[in-house]
Amino acid sequence: MSDRPRPLTVPTEDQQQMLAEVRRFAEEGIRPRVAEMDAVGKLDPAILKTLFEMGLMGIDIPEEYGGSGMSFTDAILVIIELARVDPSVSVVCDVQNTLVNNAIRRWGTEAQKKKYLPKLATEIVGAYALSEAGSGSDAFSLRARATAEGDGWKLSGSKLWITNGYEAGLYLVFATVNPEAGYKGITCFLVERDDPGFKVGKKSAPRRRSRSSSTT
Ligand SMILES: Cc1cc2nc3c(=O)[nH]c(=O)nc-3n(C[C@H](O)[C@H](O)[C@H](O)COP(=O)(O)OP(=O)(O)OC[C@H]3O[C@@H](n4cnc5c(N)ncnc54)[C@H](O)[C@@H]3O)c2cc1C
Repeated sequence: MSDRPRPLTVPTEDQQQMLAEVRRFAEEGIRPRVAEMDAVGKLDPAILKTLFEMGLMGIDIPEEYGGSGMSFTDAILVIIELARVDPSVSVVCDVQNTLVNNAIRRWGTEAQKKKYLPKLATEIVGAYALSEAGSGSDAFSLRARATAEGDGWKLSGSKLWITNGYEAGLYLVFATVNPEAGYKGITCFLVERDDPGFKVGKKSAPRRRSRSSSTT
């Protein structure tokens, strides 16, 4: 047998088995609810519950932190599989795994990992709050400020287009501690939904095309 590296596009037997389960859930548990979720612009909580139960919200969180102990590639394969049926559900899973969990795993302190990763794998949704009304692709121009206060930090500013913003219990909020330092002044804060002063704004209603609207 060849010992050449396997192309990422060819899943292993274990991955194929896992993807078959994800596909079954996507077809039976998600597809029948897609039209209704699109119409009301809201994620069905039953779907979120199953994503946690199947270990799909902590795919590459190591088992020692209560996760599924799989790889980043596994997470990507799951995200692709979910996107076949519902890109919105897929992006919920994507942000949780590839942005939130991954950032805490790579850059969090040991205490932060112990506190948050087991919860992210089993019960709380995470959000990655980077974009603002005036900074999208140009993320380094963000205006959210963080100032030292007592033994902590005070954040001021607002974020926009935050996936999972509505459902999350934990937010990775990007803010600058020193605007003069440019991108080097930007850092990330872990904000819990109940932290004083923090507020989730109103979600805009889903856009619908009226019968008389033009397509041009
Ligand atoms: C489905 C979805 C989920 C999202 N989830 C999150 C989230 O969880 N957290 C979060 O923080 N943000 C989120 N965002 C926001 C997303 O990160 C921004 O929409 C994105 O960064 C682009 O910013 P913008 O929309 O302001 O577009 P702009 O930055 O204004 O860009 C507009 C267009 O100009 C192009 N452009 C920009 N700069 C250049 C350049 N220098 N050269 C050439 N072309 C350029 C872009 O490619 C784009 O086509 C989400 C967006 C979407 C659509």
